[in-house]
Amino acid sequence: MIQFNELELIPEIIKGLDDLGFETPMPIQEKVIPILLHKKNDLIGLAQTGTGKTAAFGIPILQQLDLHKRQTQALVLSPTRELCIQIARDIDSYAKYMKGVSVLPVYGGASIETQIRGLKKGAHIVVATPGRMLDLIRRKQTNFSQVQTVILDEADEMLNMGFRDELDGILAETPDTKRTGLFSATMPREIRDIASRYMHDPDEVTIQSKNRASDTLEHQFFIVSSSNRYQVLKRIVDFYPGIYGIVFCRTRRSTQEVADNLIQDGYNADALHGDLSQAQRDYVMQKFRRKNLNILVATDVAARGLDVTDLTHVINYELPDATETYIHRSGRTGRAGKSGISITLVGTRRRHAIKSFERKIGNTFKRVKVPTGKEVCGNQLFKLIDRVEKAEVNEALIAEYLPGIYQKFEALSREELIKHFVSLEFNRFLDYYEGAGDLEIKESAHLPSTRGKSRGRKNIHGSKTGSGDARFFINIGKTDKLTVPKLIGIIKEVTRSRNIPIGKIDILKNFSFFEANRDSIDLMLKSFKKAYYKGRKLNVELTKKPGKKQFRG
Ligand code: AMP
Repeated sequence: MIQFNELELIPEIIKGLDDLGFETPMPIQEKVIPILLHKKNDLIGLAQTGTGKTAAFGIPILQQLDLHKRQTQALVLSPTRELCIQIARDIDSYAKYMKGVSVLPVYGGASIETQIRGLKKGAHIVVATPGRMLDLIRRKQTNFSQVQTVILDEADEMLNMGFRDELDGILAETPDTKRTGLFSATMPREIRDIASRYMHDPDEVTIQSKNRASDTLEHQFFIVSSSNRYQVLKRIVDFYPGIYGIVFCRTRRSTQEVADNLIQDGYNADALHGDLSQAQRDYVMQKFRRKNLNILVATDVAARGLDVTDLTHVINYELPDATETYIHRSGRTGRAGKSGISITLVGTRRRHAIKSFERKIGNTFKRVKVPTGKEVCGNQLFKLIDRVEKAEVNEALIAEYLPGIYQKFEALSREELIKHFVSLEFNRFLDYYEGAGDLEIKESAHLPSTRGKSRGRKNIHGSKTGSGDARFFINIGKTDKLTVPKLIGIIKEVTRSRNIPIGKIDILKNFSFFEANRDSIDLMLKSFKKAYYKGRKLNVELTKKPGKKQFRG
């Protein structure tokens, strides 16, 4: 294993790395730093986040700066604002002992004037998101004539996010003499195209991410039907008491729906997607990073800004379309020798697609049966017992209370005491799972039909909606910060009834729809006639058929 000082780095940088606790270079740094320092070639690095690539390109950029020139000499492009800020901060920290280095993060959603001033002052290294960078170029606020290095970080993500034209525009603005480094977790054809258009004779470096090399990542799949997908998710989450994971959904709407349902069902979950404001997204990400949230329901795009990789589980609520998406998602767990599980809920009709994923990622997916209620309870129970066994006992603090406690428990035997205490913590689970059905779908069977057994169907909250649902329109939506739990609360409050079974709820931008038992139509319409929400008069109407009513929202 080589040391940083064997990479011919200047003492200021070695000291900076030392402060960060970087003792030896990571494999990508060992390979990439000498190329960027001593060769002139372009470079392609196939590496995921978390492999140490920021330092791999950041250190050579710093070492090659001419600090006498107050001009931009390196440009790093990255897909999201969060990543951009993080890269700039990381590079700043390597340069802690270099005098006068200026690193400027440039991204959308922040004051463009401040960024223009930073560019005018001649920031040495600009770290930018493509959209804002091109905007600044078009406003003629940049001078890239002295740029020697351009880094495209997470290039596949930038293309996925539709930044192709921006990349073209930005690269055209940089001198032909520059060298380009492209880092990507995957190498789809589009990346090869970019490489062949913009790079000359690039060196290629491939870094196996740790999870692949050490095989600590397990790929599992569950077969679900559209009607039990959410119930299966809940069961999986319940089966793993210490879960810290991301549930990936396809759309913003399903993301919000799944999160709302989980919150309503008492889970410590929240949603992260593009319909939230930047401030809301920052808040959710911070909660998740600090582990104040243990389940984050997210879209791929929104989760890109989140630098959390030590998850116990990644759950694909649906099988993603692209293998690359799957690789990115699952790469957030099973890191650094820790075990991780990537779980996919796959509909019966897409079951065959698992095979093609297996081929493409070179790993097998294990078919796992949906845990039964009994298995979930068993797991939770033993986790609880384990926690009790390992609990730290602070003798000094509890000593004064113990005599009173012993006295209270005098009449109970050891066995009885254990039973009482386990029941106290555990009755909630036992109640919920008592008589819980088998959610496992037999592979060859068609979806189980509930028709004939009961005329009512189960709504999203698991209760039955008797004589059929009516669909209502209500004139508040996301812009009023309405969520599923809030709407249910409003309905209960306004109708003064806790018993109306509420069915499917669709919260849209300026209005929403909800379904409720037909028996409630009169009560619903009458009660809402005089109802207000945040000072605004509420308007609830009955819609004829789902989706038929036309609104301009
Ligand atoms: P990155 O892939 O650049 O996001 O880096 C992943 C993580 O590894 C970050 O938390 C870095 O601070 C850390 N890291 C990078 N290089 C080293 C190193 N040589 N030694 C220890 N930690 C490192």
